[in-house]
Amino acid sequence: MQPHDSEEFYEFLLITERSYPHAVNAANKGFEDAKLTVRLVQQTFTDLAKESMHCLCLDCETPVNTTTNKPKAIALCLPMFPSGESNVLSCVVCERCAERIDLMDRMLDSLRKMCPSATLVEAARTKQ
Ligand SMILES: [Zn+2]
Repeated sequence: MQPHDSEEFYEFLLITERSYPHAVNAANKGFEDAKLTVRLVQQTFTDLAKESMHCLCLDCETPVNTTTNKPKAIALCLPMFPSGESNVLSCVVCERCAERIDLMDRMLDSLRKMCPSATLVEAARTKQ
């Protein structure tokens, strides 16, 4: 890996109702990545309360909101080697898409609009 490429590596995290409490726990223990995760999830819900969003998937037009069609999960792309100007991507995932096998590929498509040469790897802690 070339040092100047490092900011193009992103970790993929899918935060569900089941995994979120673990992130909160880790955040309370002081883990910085977990604090960021919790902050992004809260921010996403704050934004969602203001206006409904479309599901992240490029071929899914499901509107997601905080009342009638709550997101099943929040998908996050976090830079593995964050710098001051690092971008993060957080998207809502509808119930149907949370089960999609190609969810990570769809997320990568979205991420590449922001960072064309991005590489996405599955975060180890989501496999637990
Ligand atoms: Zn969807």
